Amino acid sequence: MADSTSQSQETLSNLLHETRSFPPPADLAENANVKAEAYDRAAEDRLGFWEEQARRLTWERPWDTVLEWEPPFAKWFSGGKINASVNCLDRHVEAGLGERVAYYWEGEPGDTRTITYAELKDMVCQAANAMTELGVRKGDRVAIYMPMIPETVVAMLACSRIGAVHMVVFGGFSVDALGQRLDDSQAKLVVTADGGYRRGKPSALKPAVDSAVAERPFVENVLVVRRTGQDVEWNDRDVWWHDAVGSQSTEHTPEAHDAEDPLYIMYTSGTTAKPKGILHTTGGYLTQVAYTHWAVFDLKPETDVYWCAADIGWVTGHSYIVYGPLANAATSVMYEGTPDTPHRGRFWEIIQKYKVTIAYMAPTAIRTFMKWGDDVPAQFDLSSLRILGSVGEPINPEAYVWYRKNIGGDRTPVVDTWWQTETGAIMVSPLPGVTAGKPGAAMRAVPGVTADVVDEEGKPVPDGGGGFIVIRDPWPAMLRGIWGDEQRYKDTYWSRFEGLYFPGDGAKKDADGDMWLLGRVDDVMLVSGHNISTTEVESALVSHPRVAEAAVVGATDKVTGQAIVGFIILRGGEEEVPDDLLQELRNHVGTSLGPIAKPARLLAVPELPKTRSGKIMRRLLRDIAENRAVGDTSTLTDSSIMEVIAKQLPSVKPGD
Ligand code: ATP
Ligand code: MG
Repeated sequence: MADSTSQSQETLSNLLHETRSFPPPADLAENANVKAEAYDRAAEDRLGFWEEQARRLTWERPWDTVLEWEPPFAKWFSGGKINASVNCLDRHVEAGLGERVAYYWEGEPGDTRTITYAELKDMVCQAANAMTELGVRKGDRVAIYMPMIPETVVAMLACSRIGAVHMVVFGGFSVDALGQRLDDSQAKLVVTADGGYRRGKPSALKPAVDSAVAERPFVENVLVVRRTGQDVEWNDRDVWWHDAVGSQSTEHTPEAHDAEDPLYIMYTSGTTAKPKGILHTTGGYLTQVAYTHWAVFDLKPETDVYWCAADIGWVTGHSYIVYGPLANAATSVMYEGTPDTPHRGRFWEIIQKYKVTIAYMAPTAIRTFMKWGDDVPAQFDLSSLRILGSVGEPINPEAYVWYRKNIGGDRTPVVDTWWQTETGAIMVSPLPGVTAGKPGAAMRAVPGVTADVVDEEGKPVPDGGGGFIVIRDPWPAMLRGIWGDEQRYKDTYWSRFEGLYFPGDGAKKDADGDMWLLGRVDDVMLVSGHNISTTEVESALVSHPRVAEAAVVGATDKVTGQAIVGFIILRGGEEEVPDDLLQELRNHVGTSLGPIAKPARLLAVPELPKTRSGKIMRRLLRDIAENRAVGDTSTLTDSSIMEVIAKQLPSVKPGD
């Protein structure tokens, strides 16, 4: 390893070298929706390429201008008129696909519903009529605080039909989180349910809405779906869904909206700071989610059964449970509950039951499945699968290989898709019929998107170098701003590098020029002048057969600037770890990545602090490692976990 002065100029170290690579299966490559030529075509005429993708949708009026770009403000397809719900429903029914299944819905207790495109259209028309009757008008905000049930999709599409702006709040969020988002968006209607099923029991939602709405008179009505049959308190502004929606006509004449009319606000998951209300508009968003869903998953809508296991409360649910799949007339599975209810094979049972061909989930879930053991998925027939996807965090190479082997039968490509709430749609990902997949790499920008890895000065790094991922040109599904805060939009995304969009993630290019995402820039550790990504050290830990999950942070250290402190979950779940195993794991990292990356301390913990979307919150672990009071935990799945971890670690003194 070179001395620290020569490397102290580096933006981000490139320590992990992965040599495994899986070429696309021959038949998939031959019949792929998108072939290699798409990259060149898009590079030659990027705007023409996106126009071609926009033509996959049905427009009431064609656009006049593809892109108006006054940095950092973009307008895509100006002059165009389009209705998102018509693109997701009416046009398919008119094309004779009314009997095609839109969703196979599976409730956690095992109840099921099969909903065709024709039925979904009727439900959405009824809900649109009901919302109109409740006084919701174009441009009004509607909050949706729901379990994973079909009515959640119906409510979103009804909003898009009438031009109201939906704001979905994850059903696991607290009263405060809901209240904060209501204040920010000034929603006049809240759609909710009595509750939903989670971990084998009904879990109430309405009481949180009651509390949040009590002090917020701007909310005029609460529309309540009956799902669990739990007792609910009833207030003047409350309306049952089955009364208000059930009685409506299934006819509704949609209005065509401007391509740039707002479609929704989605608050980011809050791994870092105060959640930002990310604004998405209609035409460009729908163009890119539909295209990427079709290209990245090689969707064959006539034959595929597609399942995205995210929650609709996250952007992944918006783009790849609702808008992308429906715009493409796909048949999807939607599941209400948790992966371990009533048993740890529930996901695989669902795949077997519906003969799912494409499955899309998060690395956090995949690592949990690894921890539960290979024998669980082995009990199910997963041979219907042909493509697997990953989203939400960098996928550790070991988790990728496990997923491909144990779920994909060593046969299916795994597409690691990098994107954010802000980008609206997939930005960097392999194409399953084109790209050889490397475990842990998101590979390259999808056709029509220009991503790069740059150094501190914004200059592209050479192959083999590390730095920051940036997006060079505007893309159709890009955020149009932060709701009510233009300055924050400019500061957060457009001020770091002149003229470039800065997502806030570290990345590197390997020797072939393929891209690897390395986690958030805020999490990067500075050890003896080297910028080391959390992702690489965590992946090295996870590559040890005893480790299921790992999170590392840089804690202040007198000698080295920062010292690496690692928190690990063992595959068997033990918390008492013999010192020699800890030593072995530290050495394992040292051998994999070099001595600079060797953690100063390693601690076994029962759980890691995660956001509700499963992302590790390293800033809280940093607080613990530096013996500080733990910061804001309001977006944690389980805030008591911080106490459990803290109690275990009176001995964490980094650097000793
Ligand atoms: P906040 O911005 O409020 O802190 P968040 O960034 O966790 O919240 P999301 O928009 O849901 O909210 O997450 C996007 C981020 O997730 C990306 O910026 C990146 O850090 C990470 N991410 C998503 N997919 C991948 C992937 N395939 N590889 C690596 N990182 C990913
Ligand atoms: Mg973010």
